[in-house]
Amino acid sequence: MFSKILIANRGEISCRIIRTAKQLGIRTVAVYSDADSHALHATLADEAIHIGASPAADSYLQYERIIEAAKKTGAQAIHPGYGFLSENASFRRRCDEADIVFIGPPVGAIEAMGSKSAAKTIMEKAGVPLVPGYHGDDQDEAILKAAADKMGYPVLLKAAAGGGGKGMRQVWAESEFSAALAAAKRESMKSFSDDKMLVEKYLTGPRHVEIQVFCDGHGNAVHLFERDCSIQRRHQKVIEEAPAPGMTEDLRKAMGDAAIRAAQAIDYVGAGTVEFLLDTDGSFYFMEMNTRLQVEHPVTEMISGQDLVEWQLRVASGETLPCEQSDLSIRGHAFEARIYAEDPANDFLPQTGTLNFLKEPGQDDHVRIDTGVIEGDTISVYYDPMISKLICWDENRDRALKRLQNALAAYSVGGLATNIDFLYNISHCAAFERAELDTGFIEKHSDELFRNSPGQRAEDLQSVIPMAALYVLLDQAQTSNTRRQHSKEADSPWNSAFGWRANSPAHCVLKLRWQDQEVTVAAEPLADAKTQGFRLTIDDLSMEASATLEERSLTAVINGHRLSASVGKHGDEYSLYLPDRAFSFSRLKADTGEFDSAQSADHFAAPMNGTIVAQIATAGSDVKKGDVLLIMEAMKMEHSITAPSDGKVVNFFFDAGELVDGGAQLLEFEASE
Ligand code: ADP
Repeated sequence: MFSKILIANRGEISCRIIRTAKQLGIRTVAVYSDADSHALHATLADEAIHIGASPAADSYLQYERIIEAAKKTGAQAIHPGYGFLSENASFRRRCDEADIVFIGPPVGAIEAMGSKSAAKTIMEKAGVPLVPGYHGDDQDEAILKAAADKMGYPVLLKAAAGGGGKGMRQVWAESEFSAALAAAKRESMKSFSDDKMLVEKYLTGPRHVEIQVFCDGHGNAVHLFERDCSIQRRHQKVIEEAPAPGMTEDLRKAMGDAAIRAAQAIDYVGAGTVEFLLDTDGSFYFMEMNTRLQVEHPVTEMISGQDLVEWQLRVASGETLPCEQSDLSIRGHAFEARIYAEDPANDFLPQTGTLNFLKEPGQDDHVRIDTGVIEGDTISVYYDPMISKLICWDENRDRALKRLQNALAAYSVGGLATNIDFLYNISHCAAFERAELDTGFIEKHSDELFRNSPGQRAEDLQSVIPMAALYVLLDQAQTSNTRRQHSKEADSPWNSAFGWRANSPAHCVLKLRWQDQEVTVAAEPLADAKTQGFRLTIDDLSMEASATLEERSLTAVINGHRLSASVGKHGDEYSLYLPDRAFSFSRLKADTGEFDSAQSADHFAAPMNGTIVAQIATAGSDVKKGDVLLIMEAMKMEHSITAPSDGKVVNFFFDAGELVDGGAQLLEFEASE
């Protein structure tokens, strides 16, 4: 076994590898960029070497510097993690030349799977089933189109060099083929500097089921069962689980055998994943093989009781696999939810900023959190905006799902938008509970999943909105209590939580806003102040309500109906975690309907580094609430800045075509009276 390894990665996966290395008594070397000089992975390792500027191309992809760092520190092996250099055959070759062990498969295996079309040719020979399609070298448009016409629409165009869902286009009719091909080629060229395409039959309701395989350098190979990764947005995984619901022993064996055949066909060594599409009739088709440790490997670890990083280290140091196929079995069920800094309501736009507040659910045998950040860290424009992976395990799927639901409700991130509420909604979606999974799940259930609104239902006005109002009232009361305790003038009206008026009972009007809706709630404290009771009025509804707020839990009694919810506050955003969904809202200043100043500043800040596309409004002209004022492009997506209320733009700070930094104020806005 090695005595020292270098981890050529960052973030959660780097921390994850360090953890196992420590357990095995292996010393660790981290590498870090400018942006990561205080990052968790760099501080957890025994040593850390600075390898360059923040952009990955100047640091984590600079493989000569990484090799140099390994030599300087005497690391015998390099673990590449996932992404970055993990599937880079030239880097692997450089490691060999430098006499440093690359913890991953041999060059030949990486190269064989580097192109989706070449991989298919190999798999076809090895008798692994393929999605019907064309993966030839002749890229003439007429040939590609003839293949599509022959197999019938819909078809899927895929970049041979593809990954991360890029360079992919569905084509639903012959007439759309040409335009879709041009678009897919353009995207592929941009992302991979290569526009070779393959054409596949587009399956309309498949599941993504993948098999974890492991091979050593002595001819042994096993699989560690399957993972279902059907919950995807834009062809990227969001929630994964193991085992795959509804899997029979026969199908598991057939898929496991096919995966091992795939690995053996390319003389594989180490951890790998063979991805399949599982059709509704039980047929399965090879999609691709990922020649690295996957992001979602923890669910396999939870159900198999094995540490896959330990296996990688053992195999790379020349040992045989720790066990045989017959020694492996499945215990219980595990989910992994990927917590991202992104805005689901805005087409999952990545968010950058500071993690002002971070409270994770407690970890135990059932809940595991793999993360690379702590409170106060920055999610920068340079890297993937993943905050952590939340992994939950229990004896069966239902119980594991409950764990996931509870853990999501207890996860609080402040400072930037996250997908936590969206994940919470998935975990509570009835179809998900029934394990009705397919890769179109999110699209199919979008009404339910993107729902962050109590809607128009009467029961919402009678329960959800009053609870939201009570949460704000109690939160304010607590803030003002704290203020009062620190103040000399304890009875000063300026320390009161509620709108204070001389000689009249204190009352206040709250304006709550979510997405593009708002509601006004009038609250008047009831005579017996000890009970924190209020008369709430919403439209023409009036109710008596009281509540207690303890830590993250709100209990309310509304017209004699007791309800409870977990709650969270992230900056100006409040969240209620109700039994069936999350509801996030913010409070507007009651008198003007404007946002609080902090929020209005945020509203006009560039969400990330990008380019101004166009000024839509004219400075000085009146605009209506919701009108688009300006469009910017960031991370290849357009993002609209809208008016939070009626008013006018006083001044734009940037012209079309100008580059802006994330966080920069884009314009000055004046709300009308
Ligand atoms: P990438 O390497 O870009 O991630 P994959 O080939 O792994 O691309 O496919 C990603 C996802 O796209 C799959 O998980 C699946 O949801 C969808 N997909 C891929 N091929 C097909 C197909 N032939 N029919 C239907 N969906 C597909």
